[in-house]
Order: sequence, then C-alpha cells, then structure tokens
Amino acid sequence: MADLTIGVLRETVAGESRVAVVPEVVPRLTALGAAVLIESGAGSGAHFADDAYAAAGADLADADAVHARSDLLLRVAPPAPGAAERMRAGSLHAGLLRPFERAAEINTWAALGLTTVCLDLLPRTLSRAQTMDALTSQANVAGYRAVIRAAEAYQGWFPMLMTAAGTVKPAEVLVLGTGVAGLQAIATARRLGARVSAYDIRPSSRDEVISLGARFVELPGVLTDGAGSGGYARELTVAEQQAQQQALDEVIARSDVVITTAQVPGRRPPQLVSERALAAMRPGSVLVDAASSDHGGNVAGSEPGRTLTIDGVSVIGGNNLPAEMAAAASTAYARNLAALLKLLVVDGKLVIDLTDDVQSAIVVTHDGAVTSPAIADLLQNGSQS
Ligand code: NAD
Repeated sequence: MADLTIGVLRETVAGESRVAVVPEVVPRLTALGAAVLIESGAGSGAHFADDAYAAAGADLADADAVHARSDLLLRVAPPAPGAAERMRAGSLHAGLLRPFERAAEINTWAALGLTTVCLDLLPRTLSRAQTMDALTSQANVAGYRAVIRAAEAYQGWFPMLMTAAGTVKPAEVLVLGTGVAGLQAIATARRLGARVSAYDIRPSSRDEVISLGARFVELPGVLTDGAGSGGYARELTVAEQQAQQQALDEVIARSDVVITTAQVPGRRPPQLVSERALAAMRPGSVLVDAASSDHGGNVAGSEPGRTLTIDGVSVIGGNNLPAEMAAAASTAYARNLAALLKLLVVDGKLVIDLTDDVQSAIVVTHDGAVTSPAIADLLQNGSQS
C-alpha cells in the first residue's frame, strides 16, 4: 500500500475541458511509489474514460473521497472559491493556479496549511525546469488553435493558388506578440500557406520571427526595447502604448487575419488593436485575441469565449484555446506534472526543499506561510493592476 496518494479532480471552471492527468501518465506517477486516485468522469471533457484510467493503474472515486484521501491534488485551473477548504491540512495542490489574480485566496491557502505549487511561476529559462514548463506546452496549443479558429472563420484561402479560374492571393496574416503562442501561430499560418508578418516589443524576437519565414514588422521611432526581466516584456507607459497603437493601425488595416498573443506577467494584457484600427479593417477580416480575459485583452472590445461581428469583422475572444484541444493539451500538461512530481517525490514521500531554485520559485505557500517572495510582495503591494 502506497504512503502517498495523488488525486485528480474534475475541473469546475466553466468551459474547462482539460484534465490534469491522462491515463498515459498514470504509470509514471505509480512508478514514484504513489497511488493515483481520479474523480470519476474527470477525463470526460478530453475523451479519457474512467476505464482507461483504471486500466493504467488508477483508482476511481467521487470528489469527496478524492479530497479526503489525497496528499497531493493535481489541478489545471485554480480551485473554485471555497473548494480548497475541502482539502486536508498539510496536503499539496499544484497547477496553473494564477497567483497574480488570486491574492485573497493565497492567504487562505496558507492559513489552511496547504502547500501550493504554481507552475505559472516556473523559472522557465533553467534547462532542468523545461520538462515541467506548462505555460509553454499550453501556449503552444493556444497558438496553433488560434490559427485554426481564424482559418475557420475567414472566408478566403490561406495559400496562394494558381487555378484554371485564376490566381488566388494568399491571406495576409499578422501575429502580434511572438512568445511561445505567437511563434506557434506563425508556424501554423505558414504551414497553411499564408503570408505572415509579426511584431513584438522584445528585440530578440526579431530573429525568431524571421527564422520561421515571416516578416518582422518594424515600427520606426515607436519603441526600441520593450524587454523586461526573465525574458518577458515590460509594461509600456501610456505614451508608448498610444504610439504603438497608432503605428500598428495601418499594418492591421492591411491584414486579413490578425492573431494577438501579447501578455505581460502579472499585468493586464496590453491593448494593441484599438477601436480605430478595428474600424479600418476590411469586412470579412478576422481577429483572434488569444489574450482575451476578464481583465481585458489585446483587442478593444473582445469578449472572452465569445465571437463578435463588428462592421463585418469577426472578433474571436480566445480566452482558453487549450481547452478547445483538450486531449492534446491535457496530455502535454500531464507530462509536465509528472516531471514536477519527479522533483517533489523522493522514495515515495513528498519532500519540499525551499533551497532548490525551482521549488523556491513555484512553492507559494507551505507550513502555514506565504513562501514565495514574488507573491508576498504582490500581497503587500496590491493585486494585478
Ligand atoms: P508571454 O505569454 O508573457 O507574452 C507573449 C508575447 O507578448 C511576448 O513575446 C511579449 O514580448 C509580447 N508582448 C508583451 N507586450 C507587448 C506589446 N505591448 N506589444 C507587442 N508584444 C508584446 O510570453 P511567453 O510566450 O510566455 O514567452 C516569454 C519569454 O519567455 C520569451 O522570451 C520566450 O522566448 C521565453 N521562454 C523561454 C523558454 C526557455 O528558455 N526554455 C521557454 C518558454 C519561454
């Protein structure tokens, strides 16, 4: 009988069809000396049946039993308000827990004696952390899916075609924000044959864009360096943001499809497509705002999870694109979690070591305290701006 039980609950956020562990990954968890307990139906949104989990070596139970018996709970999204109270004191929960948006709950998690592991805070440039990089695995899915959604909504061709009925011009696709999701969007749009341009405020992204066969959009005089720390962008000043929007207006108006993926960690997504830019687009054009959220998005007026048509332009609020490819996204995510547990479970026991550089970044609460300096600072100085 294993000393450690790893639990997986059905996700409760509306529209969240991913699951934290897929059957393929169960043997990797049992190999660590743990028992795996899955809530019945947890995988159904991603087409993983209870039988497949059982065949892979997991037990199935209802949500109450998973809460009561688990030493570790693996999640995709943060628990609904009040749900963490159902966990045992001293147990651990891990996932993409959005700590920058959850200031109030983090204090509760600490007070409940929970160990909280936020993969959102992973130091991604450390090579030993890369197998755990759930932000990257999910952004990769989001970038791909954004282009598929755009191609579906766009009523023209993506590739150039020479047919007996004449030549078809390729679609002009513009990708704004070229981190992981943006680069995958460029690659996907190129595979479909579109002519792709892209823009980012981090100067280092220029070479990556060009290496994928896209054109890098220069905005002369707007901004020379928007790089912040840790490889991320910094938040622009209001004046920089206005200058950027104005310079982008014309590029946006020439595009048939615009995919936006720009984010600044812990901040609202920057608005890159203004109402003025939207109004100048041709009817039939399509925008996919992969940064759309309850805190705003990259496109003026985009609404998370909804498609709007504004003067003939489709504006798709792609707030949770990975959930639209739940099987692929869950499989990658579960592998990330298995890599995380290889770090946290030693000889069948949970071992938290805050002197380890990966753990000290991602463990947010432990032993009744908020242990992450970044989050302690956030709690002291206010929540997401
Ligand atoms: P992200 O999701 O935080 O942001 C997406 C992109 O939006 C970024 O490229 C950012 O520069 C851009 N952006 C922000 N504000 C903008 C604005 N006003 N205008 C235009 N673009 C704007 O980024 P991400 O995908 O998580 O990647 C962040 C960084 O981490 C990148 O440098 C990436 O290469 C790096 N990374 C490194 C590793 C690794 O070393 N293994 C893994 C993953 C990511």
